[in-house]
Amino acid sequence: MVYRRKLLKFLPASILALTLAAGLSWPRNASADPAITVVATTSMIADAARQVGGERVAVQALMGPGVDPHAYRQTRSDIAAMLRADAVLWHGLYLEAQLEEFLLELGDRKRVFAVGEAAPRDRLIAHDDYSNKVDPHIWMDPSLWRSVVVAVRDALSEIDPDGTATYAAGAERHLAEVDRLNAYAVERLASVPAEQRVLVTAHDAFNYFGRAFDFEVMGIQGISTESEAGLRRIEELVDTLVSRGITAVFVESSVSDRNVQALIEGAAARGHTVRIGGELFSDAMGPSGTYEGTYIGMIDHNVTGITRALGGDAPAQGMQGRLAAGI
Ligand code: ZN
Repeated sequence: MVYRRKLLKFLPASILALTLAAGLSWPRNASADPAITVVATTSMIADAARQVGGERVAVQALMGPGVDPHAYRQTRSDIAAMLRADAVLWHGLYLEAQLEEFLLELGDRKRVFAVGEAAPRDRLIAHDDYSNKVDPHIWMDPSLWRSVVVAVRDALSEIDPDGTATYAAGAERHLAEVDRLNAYAVERLASVPAEQRVLVTAHDAFNYFGRAFDFEVMGIQGISTESEAGLRRIEELVDTLVSRGITAVFVESSVSDRNVQALIEGAAARGHTVRIGGELFSDAMGPSGTYEGTYIGMIDHNVTGITRALGGDAPAQGMQGRLAAGI
């Protein structure tokens, strides 16, 4: 159990670090006197905790904008933060592949909640890369993300029973926003013409999106960014782009775009022009402090950008006029 050894080895240094850094590591926008402190692995889970917990909860995300959760490994300061927090919220479903063993070990001494695993099993899609695992990208379907918000509410209430009413109210308000987002996505994406309802992206993060909104989804890489896209896969996709007349493909903020460039060049060599339809947020949100740095803004950005790039009708600034222009 290499992670247990590492955890124990890092403990003394971590305690020293947290003593020295006390009060410096938590975000400045956190309440001056929160009831509890929570570490979340992904920015999407951190956002759910902020929406549900409000000022009652100080939330720290391990992974910032543009960080790939499939490949992320904990740093020493992450370990210190997790040990110091009242609880750790993580996604599960093998999203944090490199962290999973550590987080399971941490569960022996800390309250940890795999909130992604609250999603209904019968709505999960099988994983392309591993047998007996499911695709973890459930945030791409707001109707599935609801279950994560509810799981965050329940986790916070369990850690801090005095805050139960606050968390119930925060969750109710945020779930109403998630439902509005879902209604907007259904309506706008339905305006994309049938022959354009193909989403080509850098990795397979959009299967839930495709199922929810009736798009065919093609990722160059597998569900995990750890798998390398083979030349043959690129050639297959170039064939598809050319034969179906698809003119836009998408890059992702947390994945290298070199494979997407190879697709565009491959299509150009065969006389078919493909452009980048925009940059989508797949596994991380936009910059913190911006609208795109919230779950609602992240999905609004994707839905609005995909709709507009593929010939549908959506307002340039999204469902509530808050998107930065263009994608
Ligand atoms: Zn992913």
